Amino acid sequence: MTRRVALLGKPLRRRHSQVMHDAAFAAAGIDGHYELMELDEGDVAAAVAGARGTEWLGLGVTAPYKQLVAGLCDAVEPDARAVGAVNNVLRTGDGRLVGFNTDAPGFRAGVERALGGPLTGLDVVVAGAGGAAHAVVFACATAGVRRVTIGNRSLERARSLAERFAERASSVRAVPLGGPEFEDALRSADLAVNATTVGMIDPGTTIPVACLPPTAVVFDLVYVPAETPLLRAARERGLRAANGSEMLIAQAAAAFERWTGRAGMADVMRAAVAPLLADPSAAA
Ligand code: NAP
Repeated sequence: MTRRVALLGKPLRRRHSQVMHDAAFAAAGIDGHYELMELDEGDVAAAVAGARGTEWLGLGVTAPYKQLVAGLCDAVEPDARAVGAVNNVLRTGDGRLVGFNTDAPGFRAGVERALGGPLTGLDVVVAGAGGAAHAVVFACATAGVRRVTIGNRSLERARSLAERFAERASSVRAVPLGGPEFEDALRSADLAVNATTVGMIDPGTTIPVACLPPTAVVFDLVYVPAETPLLRAARERGLRAANGSEMLIAQAAAAFERWTGRAGMADVMRAAVAPLLADPSAAA
């Protein structure tokens, strides 16, 4: 019996996840396949119910269904509930569906690789307050950073994200993106993170790298294009900078481990997805 995992979303423009998971199935010697299921909203509940069948290991979930699918699961793990999004579902041996989140551990693994050390104790500035920023701020709070400053175009959204994690982090505050308080926070930052779609969808950057100290690290969650205007500007200034590809790989490896019990697939996944990351036109 071929074991199945399907990614639910709409639109599904990229096949990075499929390439990584299928390579991991092959390397692990598991007869399995990761499918792309681009669905209209009205078809999501039936697809989730179908994943209770014995051939299913679970589901991947992407925009815009992360909240909808959470409501269709039998249980949602506490970390996913805290982040506010389910990006994967596990089918347990008795056919129950459990929602979980791997974006937060994926971010932590990816950024700690870029930093060459732990997040703990750092002063972090995050641009963005959407779904990805929730995972970033959760990871920062649980890693014990010293301070998180969230800058977002819509200040209300940044405030509600800061309030969500106020009890978990020693200091978390919301400021308008690009304003004087945001620039002040950058001046003492150890790490600046872009968790907006700027650089992928809209041109430009969210972080004026001239404000950062020379020791700061810049991490852009965007991985297509591989070098965003932010990363280029950071490197031109001599700062260490990394895109979101390691987060993508780490979150996929964490999900694969939950579905199959097989850990340590990041290297296989990295090698498999490298051509797509190097040539975004091949990923369409
Ligand atoms: P989202 O929920 O739609 O949030 C989008 C964010 O971008 C919001 O904070 C929004 O601000 C901001 N934004 C959009 N256009 C802007 C502009 N022109 N100027 C300033 N801010 C702007 O998206 P998401 O799911 O959080 O994803 C954010 C990015 O993270 C995407 O590029 C995604 O590909 C990437 N991501 C990467 C990984 C990975 O594994 N590497 C994982 C997850 C996500 P407002 O609130 O003001 O609208």
